[in-house]
Amino acid sequence: MRMQPTNQIWIKQVECPLCYEDFPTENIWQNKVSIAEEYADLGKKYNGTNPLFYSVWVCPNCYYADLRGDEFQNTGKINDEAFEEDFSIFKMVAEGEDFRQPRTFQLAVISYKLALLTAKHKKSSAARSGTLNLRLAWLYRSIRKTEQEKTHIQYALNYYMDAYTQESDPDFGNLSPGGIIYLLGELHRQIGDVRSAVNFFQKVVNDKKLNTEPKYIKLARLQWENLKENRVGSEVTQVEMDESSQNNDEV
Ligand SMILES: [Zn+2]
Repeated sequence: MRMQPTNQIWIKQVECPLCYEDFPTENIWQNKVSIAEEYADLGKKYNGTNPLFYSVWVCPNCYYADLRGDEFQNTGKINDEAFEEDFSIFKMVAEGEDFRQPRTFQLAVISYKLALLTAKHKKSSAARSGTLNLRLAWLYRSIRKTEQEKTHIQYALNYYMDAYTQESDPDFGNLSPGGIIYLLGELHRQIGDVRSAVNFFQKVVNDKKLNTEPKYIKLARLQWENLKENRVGSEVTQVEMDESSQNNDEV
């Protein structure tokens, strides 16, 4: 099968910035994307075509991969020799798939895994690896593979926390500072770390310096409330009591 333009997909020829291979990529017309539902972790459920399938471009020759567009073109701190030395690893992760073929769920999953490997070579912000894992979690959620979803939520959180605590200028994409804190709270909530979740939600609601958008303040309040309702018993109450004696600026 060859890539074909449809009323939702357009084809763009791209040159790999590493090996100069020319190859076709599928891209989705943004105005044809239809959102059915937004999840608390900012993932979305789509009617019809899932744009997450097409977020990552992969060179079919050397398996260099990153988010489409400028991110793909910018090779960051890649060392060509070190990248080539890892070719057998990239090839193994690619599972013999041909990235000149139209995207399937399987190809989409592999594209994110190749982008994660590439991110290490580029020495990208840990937040980039967090975002790639979060999107993988959303992909698995779309086919109700709960175990894989949970695994990648945990990875996303680990990378995001590394970026948040250790990097001076982490790359969280378009997320605002308030949005980042909210998302950290929500991911902690999903893995069952109630104490940390409440800490982050409180910061979103109370820290005026963050200048958080109303959307995230509303979501943080909502998820905080959900925690109180779902966890009848001592844990949340204890967290609240502890928090009342702490400085809100602390995370
Ligand atoms: Zn290439």
